[in-house]
Amino acid sequence: MPDVHEFSIADALATQVLRHVPAHGRVHEVEIRVGALRGLEPAAMEMCWDAVTHDTPLAGSVLVMDIRPWSLTCPTCGRVWESPVPFADCTCGEVAPRPTATDELDLVSMTVEDEDGDEDEGPVAAATPDGGAEAGERAS
Ligand SMILES: [Zn+2]
Repeated sequence: MPDVHEFSIADALATQVLRHVPAHGRVHEVEIRVGALRGLEPAAMEMCWDAVTHDTPLAGSVLVMDIRPWSLTCPTCGRVWESPVPFADCTCGEVAPRPTATDELDLVSMTVEDEDGDEDEGPVAAATPDGGAEAGERAS
């Protein structure tokens, strides 16, 4: 069984995306932006995405994750840099830079193929003529 953390996030995300899928539309790709504080494991997230989208118009779609890195600030020399991990030594020898990160989880875009086979890629807002755009909504 996949990790519950990823599963609940994938489930909430799929519910959000499904509200934006036009009738007869078929989703190819869904892109999200995730802050490092979310601690998402991409492989687990993909597995959960496949599980929760099974038997929905999202089945077979690819989940693209843009994971925002940690920002490390060195208390000794003041250097600030981005890192995929929260703990790393600074080049000055400081072993305890302060890690900061965001906890965002935003739906960035989705690629939908309509009945004619045309692809329409763009911001989520463009796919919601009813004005129900919620691209900035937290999926949790
Ligand atoms: Zn330093």
